[in-house]
Amino acid sequence: NAVSADATNLRVKLVLLGDSGVGKSCIVLRFVRGQFDATSKVTVGASFLSQTIALQDSTTVKFEIWDTAGQERYSALAPLYYRGAGVAVIVYDITSPESFKKAQYWVKELQKHGSPDIVMALVGNKADLHEKREVPTEDGMELAEKNSMFFIETSAKTADNINELFEEIGKRLPRPTP
Ligand code: GDP
Ligand code: MG
Repeated sequence: NAVSADATNLRVKLVLLGDSGVGKSCIVLRFVRGQFDATSKVTVGASFLSQTIALQDSTTVKFEIWDTAGQERYSALAPLYYRGAGVAVIVYDITSPESFKKAQYWVKELQKHGSPDIVMALVGNKADLHEKREVPTEDGMELAEKNSMFFIETSAKTADNINELFEEIGKRLPRPTP
């Protein structure tokens, strides 16, 4: 099982997938450190960060977050990356239709090869760039609905909806049966 620990303390591996440049690393840094660095360099190798949150029912969730330098682009390596993941966060950039196409690819890939009980979230990031928006909110909603995913638009820059993203994922995690 991807989710472990006892009923009130969950622990789960979370992976982020999506085109390079959509803001995966910035989402993680915003969530874990509360920071945004517009000059941040490309992630070198895979980095690992963890963050624990408390939900309203006092369940705690420890997210073990795997962020990569894009090795998952080589499809042969992708399964190694998301193996054992209880959560997959698929990110696109709302100003980039190409990144939305790539998100659709990742949805299919995970349905074929991901663990069957994986919780999937679709994230339209860079929502602060509304003047440059090219992917309508409805398109994200529709893709998510068709595939039973949770959908949210975020901004790592302004912090909009970042905590909400992880809280919602926490709520959707399957609870271990006693
Ligand atoms: P990754 O390759 O998916 O990990 O993307 P990064 O996290 O490295 O971000 C790529 C670029 O997008 C960086 O220049 C960030 O400053 C910028 N970026 C990330 N998130 C946001 C956001 O929410 N809003 C804006 N305006 N820029 C962002
Ligand atoms: Mg990155």
